[in-house]
Amino acid sequence: MAIERVFSQRLPDEERYLSALRPTRLDECIGQEVVRQQLRIALEAARKRGEPLDHVLLDGPPGLGKTTLAHVIANELGTTIRVTSGPAVTRQGDLMMLLTQMDTGDVLFIDEVHRLSKVVEEFLYPALEDFRVDYTTESGIGGRVVNFALKRFTLVAATTRAGMLSPALRDRFGLLLHLDYYSEEQLARIVRRSADLLKVRADDIALRRLAARSRGTPRIVNRLLRRVRDYAEVCGDGTLNAAVVDAALDILQIDQLGLDNLDRAYLHALIRHYDGGPAGIEAIAATMGHERDTLEDVVEPYLLQIGFVIRTPRGRLARPAAYAHLGLTIPASARDEPGLFE
Ligand code: ADP
Repeated sequence: MAIERVFSQRLPDEERYLSALRPTRLDECIGQEVVRQQLRIALEAARKRGEPLDHVLLDGPPGLGKTTLAHVIANELGTTIRVTSGPAVTRQGDLMMLLTQMDTGDVLFIDEVHRLSKVVEEFLYPALEDFRVDYTTESGIGGRVVNFALKRFTLVAATTRAGMLSPALRDRFGLLLHLDYYSEEQLARIVRRSADLLKVRADDIALRRLAARSRGTPRIVNRLLRRVRDYAEVCGDGTLNAAVVDAALDILQIDQLGLDNLDRAYLHALIRHYDGGPAGIEAIAATMGHERDTLEDVVEPYLLQIGFVIRTPRGRLARPAAYAHLGLTIPASARDEPGLFE
């Protein structure tokens, strides 16, 4: 049986809900001070020179604000943004169509850029560097290569796996920006802003609790706000207080640290089936009947961040904090500092 996660997949009307909550200007964004500062300087420099912004690569776990920042960049530049993603651009022609629509200074946002095919990626290189593309009009012997000049646009690319990008692609970005998990205090500010926009009545303690159980991720805090609002409307008078938040999150089976069924299933698989590891990600995924990609993208980053799991050359290893959180006895082997580089 596959374990469904409360907040793993993007739900049908979710994008609309999340879009409505997106900050539109740099100053409206909360947290990520270093990234915002770097962007502010780059935007100002480009503005002074009267040139388009350098290509930007945003990397970090899902839900931390990469899409938001891409839109913010276009807003700050006062230009148009066109949005696509690595898996959606399957042929050169798809990309060609997007590129030829770009005006000077426009932003092309490619989400999940690490999933671009090799052919499309290579087609993109001269577009990024020289703002030209060599386009083959027809395949086969009759094919003609046309060298096409493009307007100077800015690529904003996002990835959850910077390590999977080819060095050739990575080198073509002028700005490499890494997003980190948010602090509880920053998430509390984000969810206060969202609650105000949605006209949800909530006291600060309630929002603080939501923030504490949102795994450092704005998308999660916004999703939980929605779920808790539903609960408050059905089971109370619509007001969020600490008791309402606790009751709603208990129903969603989100624990004190914000871990959900999928996180716990991962830890149980690692600890029960593989004696705490080291275990390869393929093996863990097979045991759980889950996609390896989901585990690597949305489960592991936070478990690594809070020190529940570490990666070793021989596989994933559960750490004492994970046993303690699940109420399991910590075996002596887990207490030993593992040889990270054996
Ligand atoms: P990603 O593209 O990294 O998966 P998104 O940009 O879709 O993440 O962000 C998810 C949600 O989090 C959005 O609805 C947005 O409202 C909120 N969000 C992201 N970053 C911030 C921020 N810095 N301040 C306030 N809200 C944010």
